[in-house]
Amino acid sequence: MKIVLLGAPGAGKGTQAVRLAEKYSVPHISTGDIFRSNIKGGTPIGLVAKSYIDKGQLVPDEVTVQIVKERLEQDDCKNGYLLDGFPRTVAQAKALDEFSEVEKVVNIDVPLSKLMRRITGRRVCSKCGESYHVDYLNGSLSCGKCEGELIQRADDNEETVSSRLDVYTAQTAPLVEYYGEKGVLVNVDGDGNIEDVFNSITAQLG
Ligand code: ADP
Ligand code: ZN
Repeated sequence: MKIVLLGAPGAGKGTQAVRLAEKYSVPHISTGDIFRSNIKGGTPIGLVAKSYIDKGQLVPDEVTVQIVKERLEQDDCKNGYLLDGFPRTVAQAKALDEFSEVEKVVNIDVPLSKLMRRITGRRVCSKCGESYHVDYLNGSLSCGKCEGELIQRADDNEETVSSRLDVYTAQTAPLVEYYGEKGVLVNVDGDGNIEDVFNSITAQLG
């Protein structure tokens, strides 16, 4: 199955993506993760990406589209994929239409007013990438899955999140209508616990 996960920053895309990729046996492709690993490795792409990500802006479409195109050409994507964080602009969605036919677009809907708290309280495992929220960690600093160290992402501070939310509203939210018109959109209420959101996604995807 070829799936796109849509939603604001902090809506829970990454959390659900890991679980959905496992259930449907498709690779989980997160543009945010790809950029972060390039930043860590000090590659030319990482250098470009960092200058935008630090400001809460989008990495230019040309760069992002090329990365995704090359990734989808790999063998493991033959039977499907789960895109997390791409497309994020109408231009990216149109570019994607040129090289792949998306079957389902899952829009995880969370009230904008809840997102700031979700993101600034987010801690991620530096080893396996699992996400947590300080409200449920009881002070723990290590991952419940792999015991890796939990860290706060550099772009999860209030100022950067505020621009990311503005960028979402202006550039990404229009994709809901874009995919709605194509008839591939699945809307899910993301304002619940991880298990409930997962179940409502899979109930609708079949
Ligand atoms: P979140 O969904 O919580 O904002 P991501 O890890 O998906 O986090 O993305 C982090 C940052 O990486 C974004 O704020 C943006 O700067 C950059 N990025 C990720 N995906 C894209 C994309 N498709 N197009 C442009 N920039 C992107
Ligand atoms: Zn971990």
